[in-house]
Amino acid sequence: MDSRPRPPGAVDEALFVDRCIRCDGCVEACPERVLVRADGGFPILDPSLGECTFCGDCVAACADQALLPSLLAEWPWRAALGAGCLSGQGVVCQACRDACGERAIRFPPGAGLGAPMIDASACSGCGACIGACPTSALRLQRIAISQSAASP
Ligand code: SF4
Ligand code: SF4
Ligand code: SF4
Repeated sequence: MDSRPRPPGAVDEALFVDRCIRCDGCVEACPERVLVRADGGFPILDPSLGECTFCGDCVAACADQALLPSLLAEWPWRAALGAGCLSGQGVVCQACRDACGERAIRFPPGAGLGAPMIDASACSGCGACIGACPTSALRLQRIAISQSAASP
């Protein structure tokens, strides 16, 4: 299972590393600057850098069919909570909820403390909450989505 997201629209991993020529075109095209050159020179999306708006500029920049418009809507990543959440330890923090434009993050009713709950059906996987978290308690986690098209 992949641990770090490829850019939006990426074909399955084996096909991706076969097709991607590591040209940096997607990295340079991203207006949000959330794509970076990573291991082996292949690009990843680093949500700690900001929010992906799924604008598709990276896909448009890829001439090698490693990123496909037909897969842009099939982003297989959602926010997930790991260790270190302040609110879960009784410290007031709701930064992730405030960053979420999809209103996918809620807290237990009452005193305003307790670990956040993420509604995976509402989460777009944009990553905005991840960079907002002061303790890096959130990450993107891959979900099962079968790709419907590996060609343009
Ligand atoms: S634009 Fe395409 S070929 Fe170039 S680095 Fe990005 S994914 Fe790879
Ligand atoms: S931003 Fe981080 S520390 Fe704050 S409530 Fe959300 S997950 Fe917890
Ligand atoms: S990844 Fe985006 S949509 Fe999902 S919970 Fe975080 S901010 Fe909300």
